[in-house]
Amino acid sequence: MSLNKINESVYILEGAVNISVILGDEGALVIDTGLGDSGARKVRRWLDGNGIRPCAIINTHSHADHFGGNAFLLKKYPELQVFAPAIEDAFIKYPVLEPVFLFGAEPPESLKTGFLMSPPSKVDEIIEPGSFEICGLNLTFVPLPGHSFNQMGVIFEDVFFSADALFVEDLIEKYGILYFVDFEKSIETLEKLKEYRGLKFIPGHRRIEGDVVDVINKNLRHFESVKSTVQKCLTHANPIRCAFEKFGIPKNPVNRALSLVSIKATLRALNVDFFELI
Ligand SMILES: [Zn+2]
Repeated sequence: MSLNKINESVYILEGAVNISVILGDEGALVIDTGLGDSGARKVRRWLDGNGIRPCAIINTHSHADHFGGNAFLLKKYPELQVFAPAIEDAFIKYPVLEPVFLFGAEPPESLKTGFLMSPPSKVDEIIEPGSFEICGLNLTFVPLPGHSFNQMGVIFEDVFFSADALFVEDLIEKYGILYFVDFEKSIETLEKLKEYRGLKFIPGHRRIEGDVVDVINKNLRHFESVKSTVQKCLTHANPIRCAFEKFGIPKNPVNRALSLVSIKATLRALNVDFFELI
């Protein structure tokens, strides 16, 4: 299993979740670590095979599929430094916060699944917007809130690791409704991404083919269509059920809990009081 070379220093393990590796003078920097051990194991094998030691992990945000391999890598390299944005760091250190956040009370076992909860990981340092040196690499952190509270993108040279700020069309169709905690900030983030159109984008999932601005515009259109669908459902007797049906959300707790967050975020953008609807 080999990683795809993006430029002289950047390599990507493309899978269900992309794991990126940047080679620096002080070792390899790993950006996001996938869900479970499998991606992290492949990256570790590749690093070992090339005689490279990792020196740090950056988690762009706290979703289980972006920090799931931290614990595996830390077992072999306990000295690894872990960097994450504030707020996100709490969920990485205490993964039960994700199902607690989704449910708002002690969560049922159905939400304490591996898809929503990865093994806990330490976080050594909080990343802030701006330029910083990690592993001898000059990095710029760009806030990309909306999909999560404090998601952070990473720029290295001409590469922009944009995490889950935008999704390719296939995935938008697959999900029916994207996951986001803040409707307006998601849109602001997408608009901001256009300023970086000259860079090579590495999203958290899949690969950007063609012009990134086309992909950004598809995401923006998705948000507009979500807003109009939720608005139309307000005239129904049960607006939330109507939205689940219109977005084609499967009847399982994980899908329903995740899409309910996006629906609530949309209601907030529409100035509709969710508690009036239930
Ligand atoms: Zn995510």
